[in-house]
Amino acid sequence: MSPRRTAIVTGSTSGIGLGIARAFAAAGIDVMLNGFGDAADIEATRAGLASETGSTVLFHGADMSKPDQIAALVAAAEAGLGQVDIIVNNAGIQTVAPIESFPVDRYDLIMAINMSSAWHLTRLTFAAMKARGWGRVINVASAHGLVASPFKSAYVMAKHAVVGLSKTVALEGAEHGVTCNAICPGYVLTPLVEKQIPETALARGISEAAVVRDVLLAGQPTRQFVTVEQVGALALFLASDAAAQITGTALPIDGGWTAH
Ligand code: NAD
Repeated sequence: MSPRRTAIVTGSTSGIGLGIARAFAAAGIDVMLNGFGDAADIEATRAGLASETGSTVLFHGADMSKPDQIAALVAAAEAGLGQVDIIVNNAGIQTVAPIESFPVDRYDLIMAINMSSAWHLTRLTFAAMKARGWGRVINVASAHGLVASPFKSAYVMAKHAVVGLSKTVALEGAEHGVTCNAICPGYVLTPLVEKQIPETALARGISEAAVVRDVLLAGQPTRQFVTVEQVGALALFLASDAAAQITGTALPIDGGWTAH
C-alpha cells in the first residue's frame, strides 16, 4: 500500500477543482482546499468532505494572483498536513472578448491566476518533493492549451504556457520521482462555463442556446459536456504510483475535440 499522501488543490471551492479534491479525499489523500466564495459555504464543503471521507481537509483562501499569498498557502499546508506531495494548479478565470477591446486588467489577472500561479506554487513546493523522491505536479490546462478559439486570447495564451511549463517541470523532476502533466479538458459545465455563455452570445451576436449548441459543443464530437467527476478520476490516476512513467504530457479529456 502507498503511504498516505497530501495535496494542495487550488481553486477547489467550485467546479473542477472541487471535483478533484473530492476524488483525492475519497481515495485517502489529505487535501488543502483553496479558492473564493462565501465563508459559510466553504466551511460546509470542507467539513462535509472531511466527514464523508475521513481524510483531513483544510482550507486556505490565498488569492492565487498574489505570490506572497501563494507562499502563505504552502506554509499553511506544510503546517497542517505535514508536507505537500501533490499540487494541482487548477485556479482559473476566463474573459471572452475580441482582442482589440480586451480589458487590460482582465488580461493581467488571467495571466497571474491561470499561468503565473502554477509557476509560483511549483517553485515553492518542488524542492521538498525532489528531496523526498516522490511528487506530482498536475496542471489543469485546457483543450485551449492545445488549440485556440477566437475571443479568448489571454486564456489561450496562458493555457499554452501552462503546457510548456508542464514539459519543463517534467524534465526537471524526471530523475527525482516527480512527474508533471497537464490535463486538457474540453467543456465541463461549471460556473466558469455558465458565466461565459452570455458573454459569448454578446461577442458573436447569437442566442445563448445557440452558444451551447453551435459554439461550446460544436467542436466536442461526443456533444456532451465532460464531468467534474471524470476530470477528478484522471487527476487521481496521475497522482497514483501507476502513473509514475507518465510525465511531460498534455492529456486531453475533451470528447474528441482535439482529434480534429
Ligand atoms: P470555476 O469558476 O467553477 O472554479 C474556479 C475556481 O478557482 C473557484 O474555486 C474559484 O474560487 C477559484 N479562483 C478564482 N480566482 C482565484 C484566485 N485569484 N485565487 C484563488 N482561487 C481562485 O471554474 P472551473 O470550470 O472549475 O475551472 C477550473 C480550471 O479548469 C480553470 O483553470 C479552467 O481554466 C480549467 N478548465 C475549465 C474548463 C471548463 O469547461 N469548465 C475546461 C478546460 C479547463
